[in-house]
Amino acid sequence: MKIHEYQAKEILRKYGVATPRGTPCFSVDEAVSAAKRLGGKVWVVKAQIHAGGRGKGGGVKLARSLDEVKSHAGSILGMQLKTHQTGPDGQKVRRLLIEEGADIRKELYLGMVVDRGTQRVVLMASSEGGMDIEEVAAKTPEKIHKVAVDPVKGLADTDAEDVARKIGVPAKGIPQARDLLKALYQAFNETDASLAEINPLIVTGDERVLALDAKMNFDDNALFRHPEIVAMRDLDEEDPAEIEASKYDLSYISLDGNIGCLVNGAGLAMSTMDIIKLYGGSPANFLDVGGGASTEKVTEAFKIMLKNPNLKAILVNIFGGIMKCDVIAEGVVTAARQVSLKVPLVVRLEGTNVDLGKKILAESGLPIISGANMADAAQKVVAAAKGK
Ligand code: ADP
Ligand code: MG
Repeated sequence: MKIHEYQAKEILRKYGVATPRGTPCFSVDEAVSAAKRLGGKVWVVKAQIHAGGRGKGGGVKLARSLDEVKSHAGSILGMQLKTHQTGPDGQKVRRLLIEEGADIRKELYLGMVVDRGTQRVVLMASSEGGMDIEEVAAKTPEKIHKVAVDPVKGLADTDAEDVARKIGVPAKGIPQARDLLKALYQAFNETDASLAEINPLIVTGDERVLALDAKMNFDDNALFRHPEIVAMRDLDEEDPAEIEASKYDLSYISLDGNIGCLVNGAGLAMSTMDIIKLYGGSPANFLDVGGGASTEKVTEAFKIMLKNPNLKAILVNIFGGIMKCDVIAEGVVTAARQVSLKVPLVVRLEGTNVDLGKKILAESGLPIISGANMADAAQKVVAAAKGK
């Protein structure tokens, strides 16, 4: 699960990470009064969307008067903000963060992720903050410093100080940077985060460190332990199809192709997408209906796929182990009758009750194209999507 920058800063502040003072706002009037309350002479108006690169896309603007706060807030709120992380359509800005302007001497980078290789939380830090960290990693990997944190001992003082020094925190700021790094680790650990990123962490004119940006993602499997984090979920930022699918406990991810996939099992779902690609097609989604899907679940899965305006054909690929082929067949027939199916449907069934499943499909009277095996089904659905 993802949250907004202002929410990540609220969490981090509780653990002692220094951030600029700021207020989330939902209207221009709120933005102006928030700036008044913050005081000072410089403010930053920041679009709150679940994507980075907002600065470059025009979603982060400096204001040197309350009039400028008002005009920036007016232009950013409601804009369709496009960044390298939003996709070509961009994301509509519905929330702002009004923050006090910081005195930036240097922009650094801090990141924390769960590293499956070492089975530890890894701290990554660099002197090259504010810009694309992917580019730094590709061109100058020696500028990224990593520490794999011992899960029992936590982040050691010496490691934290060493990293702070390596990324160019001046001597005076080292104790504060050490404490900030330890606080970041504690926040990461206690909230079951999967990613925490502060880009940039800045060194201020008076040699303090401050988190100017904050991003946190959380492990969905641990959310039941954190109702306060679940309460931060912003459904406006999520794909409506994925929200709908999650209600029925379906693992669904929207993709940009045109062939809908309904599959049981994540591994089979991935190989189904691969084989569609192999034969020159492009999947519209990843969908795993799970091992014990009911007719109702399959019907809902169908409805979700059919809402996609790009959809040109559907491939149902089922291996009936726990899942029985006749249940899937009934779901397919029910769904196809409930929604007027306007795209070709290719079905490949194998496994438990396969003959019964095929019989249900054949007797339904629906124009279903049958695939003899995965390769045959994939070739047929790719051809169907191309109108052949
Ligand atoms: P994004 O990463 O989405 O572009 P950031 O929060 O990192 O958004 O902001 C982009 C840039 O804007 C920062 O690198 C920094 O230079 C500037 N900036 C952000 N917040 C402030 C602030 N409170 N004071 C001064 N400059 C800021
Ligand atoms: Mg940033």
